[in-house]
Amino acid sequence: MSINQMSYAYGASKSSIREIAAYGSARKAEIGAENVFDFSLGNPSVPAPDAVRDSIGHALTLPAVSLHGYTPAAGLPQARKAVADSLNRRFGTGYAPADLYLTCGAAGSLSIVFNAIVERDAACEVAVVAPYFPEYKVFIENAGAKCVEVLADPATFQIDVAAMAAAINEHTVAVLIDSPNNPVGSVYSQQNLEDLAAVLREKSATYGHTIYLVSDEPYRELAYGVEVPWVPSIYDATIVCYSYSKSLSLPGERIGWILVPNTNPDHDSLVFAVAGSGRKLGFVCAPALFQRVLIDCVDVPTNLDAYVRNREALLSGLSELGYEYIEPQGAFYLWMKALEPDENAFFERCKKLELLPVPSESFGCHGWVRLGYCVSYETIVNSMPAWKKLKESYAQ
Ligand code: PLP
Repeated sequence: MSINQMSYAYGASKSSIREIAAYGSARKAEIGAENVFDFSLGNPSVPAPDAVRDSIGHALTLPAVSLHGYTPAAGLPQARKAVADSLNRRFGTGYAPADLYLTCGAAGSLSIVFNAIVERDAACEVAVVAPYFPEYKVFIENAGAKCVEVLADPATFQIDVAAMAAAINEHTVAVLIDSPNNPVGSVYSQQNLEDLAAVLREKSATYGHTIYLVSDEPYRELAYGVEVPWVPSIYDATIVCYSYSKSLSLPGERIGWILVPNTNPDHDSLVFAVAGSGRKLGFVCAPALFQRVLIDCVDVPTNLDAYVRNREALLSGLSELGYEYIEPQGAFYLWMKALEPDENAFFERCKKLELLPVPSESFGCHGWVRLGYCVSYETIVNSMPAWKKLKESYAQ
């Protein structure tokens, strides 16, 4: 029997977020959906915009051969041009369609990027800011690198630049960030990113190789009154991984892109390595129908109304009850302090009241839980008596 041990371990251990969601679904079937308050998944609760349906309707009038056929591996030229033009309008940059590689969402983008920059068997390391999206470790390790966790500043949840500087060594090939952040909802400030960039420039010079900044941005459009800085304008050797899973509510359709900005010192080689990595991993091309949707919908604004309303209801409800949390600046997650140091024990008590957040151990730190507020408004409002009961139970 020949089984890849890493694949076996990942298959056998499962994602705890998905396990909680599966428990939530089973519990809803048992006691009624209205009695379970499932805050586990990051599945958008806002429907995809009408423009997406219109675009699909239009695409369906095309001959089936061209609609369903293979596209170029990097994506349809018109789709890449639409994305490049949009970025140039928004960020005053001068990107070309050739700088873009369309992918199966941010997960696909990250897998391709790490396989493009990590030299297997060379003891490469990728540093991530903890707490972090758990799949990062899977993508990094699968590419053959070590995932090095660097805790965020515990007060602000901005990048702890001094800690990051201490963690970078001659093996570091990249630092991975995501802002707006999952799970905390923080948005890294211009100053924080500039400080990080200064460290990366210095360390690249010290170790004689480029240290990339991989910026994972599926939540870029989900920000509440703060500006999300454009990272390639701050650090030349940035690679952006983007997805329409959250901004256009299309997580099941698997569409996103990788941008290799022309500021990268080894831009042309990197573009080839990204293409080779997509080929190596067998992606072939991004979903053709949704590449066409991008041509029509790349500038359709994200509908934030429901998340704004949910965010307000959740924050005001929980703060009235005396819960402590980090006020989210973006994404659709609330990072809340558990009422005891062991977040798993806290989660067990939540569960008894049918409250389902995700314990912070999944994200690489202790003492917190994540609540996804991409749920119905009613779920938030109706969960408040249970949160109240939970708080009171700790006062006894
Ligand atoms: N990166 C982060 C931070 C995420 O939260 C997610 C999904 O929740 C992904 C990447 C993967 O997103 P996609 O659906 O685009 O693959």
